[in-house]
Amino acid sequence: MTYMLHGKHLIAGEWVAADKTFANEPVSGEPTEFSLGTVELVNLAAEAAEKAFWSYGYSSAQDRAALLRAIADEIEARGAAITEIGCRETGLPAARLEGERGRTTGQLRLFASHIEKGDYLDRRFDPALPDRQPAPRPEIRLMQRPVGPVAVFGASNFPLAFSTAGGDTAAALAAGCPVVVKGHSAHPGTSEIVAEAIHAAIGRLGIDPGVFSLVQGGNREVGSALVTHPLIKAVGFTGSLAGGRALFDLCASRPEPIPFFGELGSVNPMFVLPEAAKARATAMGAGWAASLVMGAGQFCTNPGIAVVVEGATADKFVAATKEALAKTGPQVMLTEGIARAYHQGQARMKDRKTVRPVTEMVSEGRSANPNLYETTAGQFLADHVLSEEVFGPLGLVVRVETPEEMHRIALSFQGQLTATLHMDEGDLPLAKRLLPVLERKAGRVLVNGYPTGVEVVDSMVHGGPYPASTNFGATSVGTLSIRRFLRPVSYQNFPAGLLPEGVL
Ligand code: NAP
Repeated sequence: MTYMLHGKHLIAGEWVAADKTFANEPVSGEPTEFSLGTVELVNLAAEAAEKAFWSYGYSSAQDRAALLRAIADEIEARGAAITEIGCRETGLPAARLEGERGRTTGQLRLFASHIEKGDYLDRRFDPALPDRQPAPRPEIRLMQRPVGPVAVFGASNFPLAFSTAGGDTAAALAAGCPVVVKGHSAHPGTSEIVAEAIHAAIGRLGIDPGVFSLVQGGNREVGSALVTHPLIKAVGFTGSLAGGRALFDLCASRPEPIPFFGELGSVNPMFVLPEAAKARATAMGAGWAASLVMGAGQFCTNPGIAVVVEGATADKFVAATKEALAKTGPQVMLTEGIARAYHQGQARMKDRKTVRPVTEMVSEGRSANPNLYETTAGQFLADHVLSEEVFGPLGLVVRVETPEEMHRIALSFQGQLTATLHMDEGDLPLAKRLLPVLERKAGRVLVNGYPTGVEVVDSMVHGGPYPASTNFGATSVGTLSIRRFLRPVSYQNFPAGLLPEGVL
């Protein structure tokens, strides 16, 4: 299936254009002009979503599962065109985008099967106790209900799996919530063709078209208007700490505050424990380097910091990392802005007196070369900038003198998406000491692995304390992510004829 980009917004089943345009930034070929998002379009999309909620919000799980599967089918039908447009816009290789497409369609189908099972409703039932003294107890049932229209911000670093039909959209649609997507300006063409797939699925099933709208970006007013629109009841976001925090604050300051599920920054520390380092420092260095440069370091789970006990094994670990990084050439970053931020992040590191360069390479234009620095525990604890995320393939080794120092470093971290322990049997006492700290800091704790590569499963948590995310009780990956767009309602003393479908 070939596809010609037209550059319009999808508002409740109609492709519409506003007066002004912005251009995408393809890695190769001519830029395409896209209609700029407007506040008026946000209003139209939110109103259509609210109207659609009155049918879609009360549809059966089977009907919503059919929509999720139809979207997956329509994405697959456009697979080659999506990859072609996505590669041009993001610079990501075809194999990565094909893998991400599989993850996106797999996610849609997993959520379809999950809601069909019904467990996601967390239904509860307390029977009446008419003879209870001093007062009888009424019959009470509990069930989850969809919250209403949801705003989704497409992520720059996952143009498919975390964008137009990505995890947030799939979770909201699974829950029964219409979605208004704010397309990311890094890949408007990819957003458009995926929106076309959703549009086709909705049309095929005869669902109210207000269930899905795409408003393209290019204008910061769009995001602000979306999160402050009174008909929007929750927001899903992946992006920068600054952008996410600004939108989170807007959500909190509304007359009716709403939840903002933001996935922001994380350095994903790895703790290399002494016995594991003795046994396989070289292999771990190579493994870390591979994880660090994957996708030009543009993964939220990129392990940016490794904490290792000073000595010969630390030297071996650093040498192996350096050797593996030297074999990596420059990689194209997602946008010129993200590349600029990476270059600035590296310059910030380079200027610090508290670090020593191990591998330092100049990056130009939209490309990123890997960089590696090292520091001591004392310097790391004294300089908070060292614990901030540099989005891209930049690693920092923190050499500690003692296990106590490693514990102090663990305590010093802010909230993280992940924390990793590299350990052997002999490291168990230290691992047991670190675990309570890491559990408090991270949404996912791993042993002997690398955090890039997030499984989409029932037991996944992709979230964590702030600033990893803005809601530590939620995940943006896996079936538990559907819960973000539901709220519990109790039904007390209901006659059978009035009980909503699906309650126990
Ligand atoms: P971003 O600048 O936070 O943008 C994300 C989305 O929010 C975009 O749609 C953007 O609109 C919108 N936005 C940002 N600030 C806003 C504001 N003040 N008001 C209204 N809307 C706003 O993130 P990005 O463009 O994806 O990447 C920039 C940086 O984010 C990267 O260098 C990296 O540091 C970080 N990042 C982190 C992760 C992670 O998972 N930790 C993932 C991706 C990016 P526009 O498109 O119109 O700008």
